[in-house]
Amino acid sequence: ATPTALMVGTGRGAQLGILIKGPEVLESTRQVDTVVLDKTGTVTTGQMTLREVVAAPGEDRDEVLRVAASLEHGSEHPIARAIVSGGEDRGIARVGVESFTSIDGLGVQGVVDGQAAVIGRPQLLTDWSIVVGPEIEAALAEARRNGTTPVVIGWDGQARGILIVSDAVKTTSAQAISRLRDLGLTPYLLTGDNGEAARTVAAEVGIAPEHVIADVMPADKAAVVQRFQAEGKVVAMVGDGVNDAAALAAADLGMSMGTGTDVAIEASDLTLVRGDLRVAPDAIRLARRTLSTIK
Ligand code: ADP
Ligand code: MG
Repeated sequence: ATPTALMVGTGRGAQLGILIKGPEVLESTRQVDTVVLDKTGTVTTGQMTLREVVAAPGEDRDEVLRVAASLEHGSEHPIARAIVSGGEDRGIARVGVESFTSIDGLGVQGVVDGQAAVIGRPQLLTDWSIVVGPEIEAALAEARRNGTTPVVIGWDGQARGILIVSDAVKTTSAQAISRLRDLGLTPYLLTGDNGEAARTVAAEVGIAPEHVIADVMPADKAAVVQRFQAEGKVVAMVGDGVNDAAALAAADLGMSMGTGTDVAIEASDLTLVRGDLRVAPDAIRLARRTLSTIK
C-alpha cells in the first residue's frame, strides 16, 4: 500500500502545482524543520527596476549609465536587466563590449570604448584596484539604508558612479511565510545582496532580522545549508537562480520556483510550478498527510 499512497500523494501534488521528482521525496519533505529562502526571485519578484543613477563628482550621469548598460547587456542577472532597460527608457545608446566576463556573485567587467570597466559589488572594484571615493561610499550607504541594492561602476582607477535598483516583495510571500511558521518551521532569508536590503524584505514578510544571512557568495550558499544540517536541522532550501543550485542540491529538500532557471529546477527535488511560495507550505502539509495515512 505504501507505494500506492505515495503515488496518490505525488498525483495530488501535481493538482496543487507541485512537481515532485519521485515519491521518495515526500519522506524528506515531511521531516523538514528549517526553511531557507533565497531572496531575489523567490521572496521578491526578481524583476528589478533602475531607481537612480548617481555620478561621482565631475562625472556625467548619462555617461555612467551608457557604460553600465553596455557592460550589463551581456549579463542575465536581474540587476543587469534593470540597468539595460533603465538605459533604454532614458534613450541611452549602448556600445559594443570586448572581453566581457561575468564574475558570479560579484558583477561583470569588459572593455568599453577601449577602456576596461567593471560594475558590481564595491569589493569587486577594490579587487580591480579601483578607488571607491568617499562620495561614492556615502551614496552606497544611503542606498543601503533605504533598503535598495546599489552597484558601483568604475574605470581607469576610479569609481564613476552608482546604479540603484530595487524589486518588490511578491504579494503572496508574507502569507506563505506565516503558513510555514504555522507548520512549526523556522524561516531564514539567504542572499548575496546587502544586509539592509535583505532585512527590509525580511521585515515585510515576517522573517526575524537575526534569521537574515546576507552578503553570501554563490559558492557559500550551500555551506550555509550544510552548517544548519551539522547543527541537526532538517533543511528545505527554496530558490530560483543559478547561484542557488548547489544549495538546492545540498538541502534535505530542494524546492525550486517553476519561474526560475533550468539549473535550479534540475538541482531540486520539487518544483513550485507557478512560482507561488504559498505552495511550499502546501507541499509540506501534503507530505505529512500522505505519510501519516501510510503509517
Ligand atoms: P542574490 O543572492 O540576491 O540572487 P547574487 O549572488 O546573484 O544575488 O549577487 C550578489 C551581488 O553581486 C548583487 O547584489 C550585486 O551587488 C552583485 N552582482 C551580481 N551580478 C551582478 C551584475 N550582473 N551586475 C552588477 N552587480 C552584480
Ligand atoms: Mg534568486
